[in-house]
Amino acid sequence: MLWAGARSDVGKVRLKNEDAFYIDSARGHFIVADGLGGHPAGEVASALAVDEIRRHLQANEAGSPSLRLLREAVEAGNSVVYQSSMENPGLYGMGTTVVVSLIRKSRLLLAHVGDSRCYLLSSEGLVRLTEDHTVLFEMIKEGLLSEQEAFSHPYRGVLNRSLGLEPHVQVDCRELPYGGEPLLLCTDGLTDMLRDQEIEEILRANPDPQKACDALVQAANEMGGRDNITAVLVKGS
Ligand code: CA
Repeated sequence: MLWAGARSDVGKVRLKNEDAFYIDSARGHFIVADGLGGHPAGEVASALAVDEIRRHLQANEAGSPSLRLLREAVEAGNSVVYQSSMENPGLYGMGTTVVVSLIRKSRLLLAHVGDSRCYLLSSEGLVRLTEDHTVLFEMIKEGLLSEQEAFSHPYRGVLNRSLGLEPHVQVDCRELPYGGEPLLLCTDGLTDMLRDQEIEEILRANPDPQKACDALVQAANEMGGRDNITAVLVKGS
């Protein structure tokens, strides 16, 4: 049995919420997307991507879940956003991030594009399961910048990969064993406001997934809420 909570909030500065999410605890499908700000129709891109990925996973759930299915679902989401962008002048150039987790029995399958993240809270600590597709993350990997310096960097949000901007997208996928540990999917409106250690403290203080999501969003708003904030938390019971 999976137990999930979710909360999405406009934050303190933005006028509209361009994040989207979907949770289906019975099927083990969880999706978070963040429509690109500074582009048109971010909220359309994130909603289209979430809906198409959800539809694709549900239509193919008869077989055993595989990374191939997950990758195809995200690629289908990319195609739908890209096609809509091409066909509607008002939507041209829209894009979104996405992080998807598919949990079946004791396996966790993950796919993502962009800087929305997935974390797992293990007994040893909070583990980041996704790598941000950002210019700054590349610099951190090359040793040119520390995590500390990146946290408040003005170019923090610059993505080098996102969904819907090109006809094809490269999707990062991975599969791990899953023992029911708390699993967090979130947008950068959360991780730009809270450091990993603060996220971990809130998760440890709130065993109830919905209360944890509420507390994460509240803490991000208290830190300034500069962007839309979305948190989805899943755990086994
Ligand atoms: Ca965002």
